[in-house]
Amino acid sequence: MTPRPRFVPHATPTGVAGADDLCLVVAGRKLLVGADGPFPYVRDLPTGTECVPLGTLDGHRVWAAALPSPDSGLGAWRSWRALAGELGEPLAALAGRALQVMTWRRSHRFCGACTAELGDVPGEHARRCPACDLYVPMQLSPAVLAAIRRPGAPGRVDELLLLRHAYGPTELWALVAGFVEAGESLEEAVHREVGEEVGLSVQGLSYFGSQPWAMSGPGVVLAGFTAVSSDDDAEPVVDGREVAEARWFPLDALPDELPPTYSISRWLIDEAVKNSR
Ligand SMILES: [Zn+2]
Repeated sequence: MTPRPRFVPHATPTGVAGADDLCLVVAGRKLLVGADGPFPYVRDLPTGTECVPLGTLDGHRVWAAALPSPDSGLGAWRSWRALAGELGEPLAALAGRALQVMTWRRSHRFCGACTAELGDVPGEHARRCPACDLYVPMQLSPAVLAAIRRPGAPGRVDELLLLRHAYGPTELWALVAGFVEAGESLEEAVHREVGEEVGLSVQGLSYFGSQPWAMSGPGVVLAGFTAVSSDDDAEPVVDGREVAEARWFPLDALPDELPPTYSISRWLIDEAVKNSR
């Protein structure tokens, strides 16, 4: 088995971008597909394109660049969702970082306190205001997900709580999820979101893992948890505005419309199925 390439993010510009370095190109929310692989090289780009350091892939430098709009002369453009589904980790994380860094640079150009134009902080994805010294780092938004189980009927496997949202990909059966509020721990966010989205309470919260996510906002990191319903007989109650529907599914009879295989949502669901056998 070929070892997986390793992506290490950093922001230090180690010299000038070389012609044979990878450079991920972003326009809006799309990424440019490479002519000789998943991503383009610096040599494929117009001369003078500004390259921003993303990190290293197996020790090789990787850069990102932005174009004002998808230029049909350069090649095909794909969404992160499509690329992540095809490439898997760690290239999905690399593409996500390119999208996040370039989106952040485009949307954080001026000081939010005094409106002066911000300057780059060398070696960081951060900017500083030359007029009032405000420091503007690229920040991540933490969000939580929870795979909630309850015992099945006598002689049956456990059940998993899944819900359908009223907007976004409404056909998917998803997990309870939401952003962490300021002043809240990850665990407290899970308890609050479970209460808000399905009106249940949970116990036995256990950390599962995390995943950077490029779909919503410039920088989201998802933290996944498993939990057990506090009351075996409690049924979910939804508000009909954000969450359209929520149901308990036996782990041997889950619906087909599940989150994509590259998402931590799906990893949590697959792990629950594995543990039910
Ligand atoms: Zn300022």
